[in-house]
Amino acid sequence: MKIVFIGPPGAGKGTQAEQMIQRYSLAHLSTGDMLRAARDAQTEVGKKAEQYMSAGELVPDDIITAIIADRLTEPDCEKGYLLDGFPRTIGQAEALDKMLADKGTPLSVVLELRVPEDELFRRLAGRGRADDTPDVIRQRLVAYRQQTEPLLDYYGKAALLKSVEGLGTVEEIFKRITTLLDAVD
Ligand code: ADP
Repeated sequence: MKIVFIGPPGAGKGTQAEQMIQRYSLAHLSTGDMLRAARDAQTEVGKKAEQYMSAGELVPDDIITAIIADRLTEPDCEKGYLLDGFPRTIGQAEALDKMLADKGTPLSVVLELRVPEDELFRRLAGRGRADDTPDVIRQRLVAYRQQTEPLLDYYGKAALLKSVEGLGTVEEIFKRITTLLDAVD
């Protein structure tokens, strides 16, 4: 299965992603994790990305698309993967479509985790990551609304989109996700 996982910051994607990769034996491709690792290792890409991440802005498409193109060539992706945090813009989605068309390996499904904005703010403010200050949180929510939400329409038109409510216990939400994914071939 090749899954794109979409949801606003604070939706609980990371928690659900961990369980999904176990159950469906998927490679976990989290661009947030990759960028934080690059930043901590102080690579050229990491240093450039940090300027955007610390402001709650998206890293430019060309940087992130190159990282994913590279990652998708690794052998563990052949068993299927969960793209977590990518694509986040229409430009990234088009770049991904092109990569996958070239490989002849289309996406299986795009899964949206839906959570109301007031709940997101509450969760993020309680998390305490370095990029979780109120101003940065607000900026990340704005970036999601303006740049990532248009993907729902994009993948809806491609008949790939499935949405799950992200309120409830972790177990309840996971059950909703598996019910949907078990029906995808
Ligand atoms: P969250 O979902 O909590 O905002 P992530 O861990 O997915 O956080 O990403 C952290 C930061 O990394 C983002 O705010 C953004 O700056 C950058 N980032 C991650 N993925 C992408 C992407 N696909 N395109 C651009 N920037 C990205």
